[in-house]
Amino acid sequence: MSKAGRTSEEIAARVKALESMMIEQGLVTTEMVDHYAEIYENEVGPQLGAKVVAKAWVDPDFKARLLDDAPAACAELGIGGIQGEHMVVLEDTADVHHAIVCTLCSCYPWPVLGPPPNWYKDPQYRSRMIREPRTVLAEEFGYDVDESREIRVWDSSSEIRYWVLPVRPVGTDGWTEEQLMALVSRDSMIGVAPVEAVS
Ligand code: FE
Repeated sequence: MSKAGRTSEEIAARVKALESMMIEQGLVTTEMVDHYAEIYENEVGPQLGAKVVAKAWVDPDFKARLLDDAPAACAELGIGGIQGEHMVVLEDTADVHHAIVCTLCSCYPWPVLGPPPNWYKDPQYRSRMIREPRTVLAEEFGYDVDESREIRVWDSSSEIRYWVLPVRPVGTDGWTEEQLMALVSRDSMIGVAPVEAVS
């Protein structure tokens, strides 16, 4: 249940109803709605997660707090809210790569990643990612995780919403938080893309 006492399904239904009404009345077009949804999925939302990741990379004490209690650590940066009350951050290492999925529906940490992309809600992704993550990452996302690394897939729910703290790329010593933040994509925090330092 949300703070307002509504489930996310009820909220989604209300949003859909409002959207239909506004389109019918000619106030917005489907294209406009898609356009803004895309901005939130790809840019505005994930920038908050990227900010958290960059801070964790430069501040070991913050990282420890983040891994211990993600909602509290995010709140230090003024980040939090609905669909983010029970977030758990998983730290990637040289040996382990984490990825997230919601096999039941599309549970996702909205305050740090924005709304989930369509493919995250796709039944194909939801079922295959659990069964054969290495293949899905390679075939669907072009991400070849090194054979030496174990892949762990975490099934999110409304009780626990996972997201990933990727490995800080080599060659970024001395970078500022802003520079680091720019490297962190939405997909890297879902665990379907690497973070790479571009030179
Ligand atoms: Fe779900």
